[in-house]
Amino acid sequence: MPNTACRSLNCTPDRPLGPRKPRLKCRVALAGALAAALWAGAPAWASDDHAAPAQAAKPVPKAVAAAVPSAAADPMDSLREKLAAKLGAARAPEAASPYVVRVVSKSGEAAHGTATGDAAKPAGNGSAPKPAKARAAAPPAIPDGHAAHWGYGGAGGPEQWGAMKSEFSTCATGTRQSPIDIRSGVRVDLEPIQFDYRPSGFRVVDNGHTIQVNVGGGNSIEVQGRRYDLVQFHFHRPSEERIDGRQFDMVAHLVHKDPEGRLAVVAVLLDRGSAHPLVQTIWNNLPLEKGEEVAAKSALDMNHLLPADRRYFTYMGSLTTPPCSEGVLWMVMQQPVPIATDQINVFSRLYPMNARPIQSAAGRLIKQSN
Ligand SMILES: [Zn+2]
Repeated sequence: MPNTACRSLNCTPDRPLGPRKPRLKCRVALAGALAAALWAGAPAWASDDHAAPAQAAKPVPKAVAAAVPSAAADPMDSLREKLAAKLGAARAPEAASPYVVRVVSKSGEAAHGTATGDAAKPAGNGSAPKPAKARAAAPPAIPDGHAAHWGYGGAGGPEQWGAMKSEFSTCATGTRQSPIDIRSGVRVDLEPIQFDYRPSGFRVVDNGHTIQVNVGGGNSIEVQGRRYDLVQFHFHRPSEERIDGRQFDMVAHLVHKDPEGRLAVVAVLLDRGSAHPLVQTIWNNLPLEKGEEVAAKSALDMNHLLPADRRYFTYMGSLTTPPCSEGVLWMVMQQPVPIATDQINVFSRLYPMNARPIQSAAGRLIKQSN
């Protein structure tokens, strides 16, 4: 999300120059920046959409560059230096102001793909993932106040993703991208997906691209002889995938990962109709601020999100958000589940349109349950 990709806090002293202390307002802002630095070191529970297999195992490199005056006589300066040192921060001599504290994520938006620091270490059943302590930072990064912010329109829109940064190049060059218009599926006796879901704790986060729900451990599916743990799910409006050209009001993507980091996404289409109790439970726990995770007091039973008819379409595709990594097993449930107009409107207030356009199916095999 944009606010994790780059946090830059520029606080200028009230007086033009000199070693005089900045006023309290500035100090508070600095403390805020340090808190942000700690936050930036948190795992990817705060991040986005589908996890990227290649990145899931790697910690996201973070660097904190703090520019401080050389003479840290001020207690606030001293505290700041101590904290910066603790975070593995380095001084950034090129910073323009001595009062600039800049927190830079070198991985930038690619962090969105690594949805699942929590996947590698799922919380126990019934408990929600907890933020880790700030990890030691990577070598100092060049302050980068111009990290690309991807989105669904304008300069950061889907047509630009592939060119925004090298890590996103697959968005432009990939040949097995998602979403697709699902047509001409081969009807076969597809093995049923074995859903092993149970009531679990959850946390809701508005990550800047969607509403995401990080689910406690203990939920998994088994398909093609492989077991995948449910990591998170999130929503798109309208549905990204189409069935014979038809787009639905919304879709929920249930992102699962196996121990080797392979991803399997179950898509549940949401069609305008009656109110959906599970969706309402999530909306009831919406955080007021972007990036803020709200731990729900109640539990969520993901079985209640699944349609009664478990037949599905399946094909190999990609993440639908940068970095658009391929090798994702998609399973799109054939039967949509209802969602009320009011419930769609709640999501629309936050994200009126967060669907990637249809990608070429490029002759891929699509199978569907008989
Ligand atoms: Zn998605």
